[in-house]
Amino acid sequence: MQLYKNQTLKVHNSLSGKKEVFQPINEGHIGMYVCGPTVYSNVHLGNCRTFMSFDMIFRYFKHLGFKVRYVRNITDAGHLENDADDGEDKIAKKAKLEQIEPMEVVQRYTVDFHNTLQKFNFLPPSIEPTATGHIIEQIEIIKEILEKGYAYEANGSVYFDVLKFNESNEYGKLSGRKLEDMIANTRELTAQDEKRNPQDFALWKKAEPQHIMRWPSPWGDGFPGWHLECTAMSTKYLGETFDIHGGGMDLKFPHHECEIAQAEASKGKSPVKYWLHANMLTLNGKKMSKSTGNNIYPSEIFTGENDILSKAYAPSAVRFFMMQAHYTSILDLSDDALLASEKGYNRLMDGMENLKNLSTGTKSDFDINTWRQKCYDAMNDDFNTPILIAHLFDAVKHINLIKEGNESISEEDKTLLLNTLNTFVYDVIGLENQSTVKDDSNALNGVMDLLIELRNQARANKDFATSDQIRDKLTALGIQLKDGKDGTSFSIN
Ligand code: AMP
Ligand code: ZN
Repeated sequence: MQLYKNQTLKVHNSLSGKKEVFQPINEGHIGMYVCGPTVYSNVHLGNCRTFMSFDMIFRYFKHLGFKVRYVRNITDAGHLENDADDGEDKIAKKAKLEQIEPMEVVQRYTVDFHNTLQKFNFLPPSIEPTATGHIIEQIEIIKEILEKGYAYEANGSVYFDVLKFNESNEYGKLSGRKLEDMIANTRELTAQDEKRNPQDFALWKKAEPQHIMRWPSPWGDGFPGWHLECTAMSTKYLGETFDIHGGGMDLKFPHHECEIAQAEASKGKSPVKYWLHANMLTLNGKKMSKSTGNNIYPSEIFTGENDILSKAYAPSAVRFFMMQAHYTSILDLSDDALLASEKGYNRLMDGMENLKNLSTGTKSDFDINTWRQKCYDAMNDDFNTPILIAHLFDAVKHINLIKEGNESISEEDKTLLLNTLNTFVYDVIGLENQSTVKDDSNALNGVMDLLIELRNQARANKDFATSDQIRDKLTALGIQLKDGKDGTSFSIN
């Protein structure tokens, strides 16, 4: 029997602002769409946090036995500067700056995105569609919205008519904004404006002659508005109404609000049952962001090459740091916080290693079944990973007591404890045991220092037979010694 049948999962639905019991539209199946990156630069750790939150959610659903179709798109066109309807396309702008084709920009940063996610041990989504691969679908939705009377054409562009839509629907229901307030707080339109009112947003934009990324359409050459791609791709792969739509909090408005409007205007129904929003990673108390430069890149964390970092951190230690906060809470990144998380991560890994070697007794002082259900309860409470981690540490505390001979565990419970820890630590929160890698490199450095010292002593004693033997044997193993004025170093081929 599937695990989900015994567990009651609750999720925080941004649409109702409440925690709700999760019941998928089709029993046993989940359709989940998460807005992917706009691939015009390397992903920073803030972006990684949001995708990691949904990777953990995807992992837990799979663990519970659901059949999940997880769609995470790549935005490779249509996202304009400042998330607005005017300005340059972010990708086209970068292409001009680097003097390469827009699709070279897309390729470069999509590869970076995949490499980074792989280092963090992400599971790949089921489908990863691109905006440029779905222009026809986007044009079809615009036609439907025009037919229903919720959009209008102006000078080769098509805009969504927010005021018209709001007469029969509720624009602002996801973000909690009121259309009257939005109207009161925006400037008047000028005579040159194509929009009927400032709240309207672009479904299709006419391409000026210099705009490189362009496609033919019934309204002339142009490109789709940013919000439209997600409506087109989620509908195509998950249907007109699907279970979960996710993204960072900053996408709630206007992006997700506009997605709801587009879907309701074209299909006449609400597209998503549960809207899930992940909170921001901050640095120095401010949101990490590509545009302000207040950010840290994963490559900097893995090498320690950033002024705020005292050292390099393994991807799993960083993942553990992220999982120690609830996905809906703001999390601030600092070297102190990373050091503390790394310590906790090592303690967890050591605890799991120690468990394997524990000798067992006839009874258990630790009620594994109750503890195990507490782990599920934490995850069932809107994926509460910090509470889950507190329970994992509780298990480590008992493992240490058993190791010291102050408690005992039966063979059967030891197996159950090990299986449960493996499930939550590796399958659900997605950590890997990277402490052995770190220890190996420390040990190798120590052995190499010793060999270099012995070789130096042999040379000082004019025992060249021994010094040559050390160098030649190392060369045969693929390790090169290099003598320089600051001493001897080594490299591995
Ligand atoms: P973008 O590539 O800018 O469209 O962003 C990709 C994803 O990263 C979106 O879901 C954003 O909400 C999310 N995101 C951007 N900045 C941060 C941040 N500082 N912390 C967490 N998520 C973020
Ligand atoms: Zn989106």
